[in-house]
Amino acid sequence: MSEQRVSKRSTQWFDRALEVLPGGVSSPVRAFGSVGGTPPVIRSGDGAHVVDVDGNRYLDFVGSWGPLILGHANRHVVSAVLDAVQGGTSFGAPSAVEIELAEEVVAGYPGIEQVRFVSSGTEAVMSAVRLARGASERDIIVKFSGCYHGHVDHLLVAAGSGLATFGTPSSLGVPEPSASQTRVLPLDDDDALAALFDREGDRIAAAIIEPVPANNGLLLQRPRFLATLREHCTRHGALLIFDEVISGFRLGPGGAAAHYGVQPDLATFGKVIGGGMPVGAFGGPRELMRHLAPTGGVYQAGTLSGNPVAMTAGLATLRYLQQYDCWEGLEELGQYLKQRLGNVLKRSGVPATLVRIGSIFWIAWGSTADPRSAEAIHPDAASIYRDVFHGLLERGIALAPSAYEVGFLSLAHRPGHIDLLADTLAEVLDNLKRKGDPTAPADAEPAGSQS
Ligand SMILES: *Cc1c(COP(=O)(O)O)cnc(C)c1O
Repeated sequence: MSEQRVSKRSTQWFDRALEVLPGGVSSPVRAFGSVGGTPPVIRSGDGAHVVDVDGNRYLDFVGSWGPLILGHANRHVVSAVLDAVQGGTSFGAPSAVEIELAEEVVAGYPGIEQVRFVSSGTEAVMSAVRLARGASERDIIVKFSGCYHGHVDHLLVAAGSGLATFGTPSSLGVPEPSASQTRVLPLDDDDALAALFDREGDRIAAAIIEPVPANNGLLLQRPRFLATLREHCTRHGALLIFDEVISGFRLGPGGAAAHYGVQPDLATFGKVIGGGMPVGAFGGPRELMRHLAPTGGVYQAGTLSGNPVAMTAGLATLRYLQQYDCWEGLEELGQYLKQRLGNVLKRSGVPATLVRIGSIFWIAWGSTADPRSAEAIHPDAASIYRDVFHGLLERGIALAPSAYEVGFLSLAHRPGHIDLLADTLAEVLDNLKRKGDPTAPADAEPAGSQS
């Protein structure tokens, strides 16, 4: 049914990219490193679809990695942004729209009284951690393995070997001393958590967690685990930071905090809050936020922070979500996806489970139960996914180019799009089965690649 897609122009563009951009990209996972092949070079997006420079159209479940909860080029957002641009792109001074967006966050998220805007999720986390350290006058940060918090030095840290939870740098260029103030714990492990707080609790500035870990698969936590983390932090005077860069305003205005009924001291935002523009934010109670410059001694600043065009995209997105109570519809669509894809996976006989919360989904290849920690993900997940990914892409469906990345639904997706994904996935799995054992690692045939 699928004609071979031509990717001549994409290949030519990507060859040019390789000359002038390291790996051909501005952010590593876009390079298709873990699935092989040449990424399509995208020309435009519209609703639930993106179109590449060869004119191939893809039903898109990447959603720019999370921001596009209203879909590509949503009319309301585009027209608000065009209006804003006409009025000037940056002032370096307070503007009404940043105040309005801050009011939306304060109204929606439990415990937040003030917000500071930045230009990315990474910056939000970096600044929130500095604030936590400055306010608590402590240095140690606790993070969880399998959670991603941007490319901040002291959070690009992996668990060290042996019993010690001392972090070691997970990237070249991160100095040992940056990592040495970070402790790394496994998710879903009450004993390891209790042991660390018993040992070092009164030296811990903050624990940071993705309450919905969605950067290394979708590792949904037991609500009790999040509540226990909250209790340890409170008892030892450590701050709890929820990194809601993905979950914030995607699960609802109160993010994972409202979903689970666990309130952090500080929360970080990005992705949805910028409506597709570069925006990050962090917030908390006034009593903590006053430590930031200019009222306090924790320095933090940004030339383009609170940029009026970016704020406008965020505000238009959040207001649209509120006005049409979009989260309910996304939840229903998510339930439908879970049912349709779940059935396809079951009937295929391939070991895999569909994990979902709201409009975020992930297929845990090789697993028969939802993994709750990075360590629980099946080691064959990536090799199984490679063929599935390219099978779907050849047939015009774009999932993220990595077995460890989640998919996103948007308001532009319809039940018919989910049906198409389910039917196409069934066809791809069936083809793989006929070619041989789909769980056996196989060489990926790059989709439509001429190289
Ligand atoms: C994407 C992400 C970040 C980093 O945000 P950038 O805008 O890419 O810098 C941080 N934390 C989480 C949970 C994220 O998903």
